[in-house]
Amino acid sequence: MKKVLFCGTANLDYFIYSKSLPIEGVTIKGNFEQNAGGKGANQAVACSKLGNNPFFYTRLSNDMAGKYLYSSLTSNGVKTKAIKTVKNNKSGVALIFVDEKARNLIGIAPGLNEMMPKKEIKNALNLLKKDDIVVCEMGIPLSAIKEILELSKNKKLTTIFNPAPVTGKLSKKDFTKVDYITPNEHEAFELTKVRINSKNSAKSAAKKLINLGCKNVIITLGESGAYGIIDNSELYIKAPKVKAIDTTGAGDAFNGAFAFGISKGLKGKDALKFSILVGSLSTTKKGCQPAMPTLNELVKSNLIKKNEFSKLF
Ligand code: ADP
Repeated sequence: MKKVLFCGTANLDYFIYSKSLPIEGVTIKGNFEQNAGGKGANQAVACSKLGNNPFFYTRLSNDMAGKYLYSSLTSNGVKTKAIKTVKNNKSGVALIFVDEKARNLIGIAPGLNEMMPKKEIKNALNLLKKDDIVVCEMGIPLSAIKEILELSKNKKLTTIFNPAPVTGKLSKKDFTKVDYITPNEHEAFELTKVRINSKNSAKSAAKKLINLGCKNVIITLGESGAYGIIDNSELYIKAPKVKAIDTTGAGDAFNGAFAFGISKGLKGKDALKFSILVGSLSTTKKGCQPAMPTLNELVKSNLIKKNEFSKLF
C-alpha cells in the first residue's frame, strides 16, 4: 500500500441543525453539535477509516479547538508527524447550518490555516517517496498549493488536487503537475466558466481542465454521481440512490476514498467508482468525520455486491 499525505485545513465545526437556513434579520432555532472538520482533515479521516492511515499536514494551535482537533485526528488513526503546532495562536473554526433538506450554509475563520511556510511543506513531503500520493485542497494558501505541486512532481509523487473552495488562479504550469483534479460542479464552473447541467456540459468543462494541463479530471455531481476523463477515456457514473440526511463533507469522503483507492493500486476508473459509493454512503449520516464510512460499513450497506468488492480489494 502506498503512503498518502493530505495537505489542508483543520477546523472545529459548530453545527446547528434546523428546519430552514438562516437569512439576514431572521433568527432560527435548532439543535447544536460540535465536530472536528476542515476539508483536509475530513479527507484524511475518510482515507484513514477506510484502512490506510495517512499523514496530514496542517497547522494547529494549543487552543481549545486545536486540542480537540488533534485528538480527533489521532483517534481516527491519522498520523500526526507532519502537523505543525503553533502555540498561543488561533486554530481554524467553522459555523455550519444544515436544514431539513440537508442543504448547508458555511462560514469559516481559518486562523493558522492561512499560512503555510515552504520549509514545513518540504518537511511534510519528505515523509513520502516516489509513487506515493499527495492530496491537497484549496482552503490553504495558493502559494502553498503551488509549492506542494512543484515539490511533488520533483519527487515523482501522484498528485490529487481538490480545488475546493476555489480561492484563486493557478497557472498552466501548476495544472500540468496535477494528476487528478476533482472539482464539484460549482468549482468546475469557477475554473472553466462552463455551467454544468448535463453530461455534455460536464464533458466540455472536463476538456477545458485537460487543456489547462491536468492529466485526469473528475467532476463530482452530487446525487448524480460523477463525470470523468481518466486515461483519455470518458466516464459518467451514476451515484446510488441513498437516503441523504447531510451532504456536508460528501466531496471530502469522495476525495479521501479516491486517494485510498489509488494507494491500494486501483486504476483511476475503479477508484472513481469506489469513491462515488463512499461519497454517497457518507450522506446517510450526520456530520463530516463521524459520517465517513469504513470498508466494512460499505459492504454491509449493500451499495456494492460482495463479488464486485472482492474484485477491487
Ligand atoms: P461536494 O460535497 O464537494 O459538493 P458532491 O456534492 O459532488 O461534492 O458529492 C460528492 C459525491 O458524494 C458524489 O459524487 C456522490 O457520490 C455523493 N453524493 C453527494 N450528494 C449525494 C446525494 N444526495 N445522494 C447520493 N450521493 C451523493
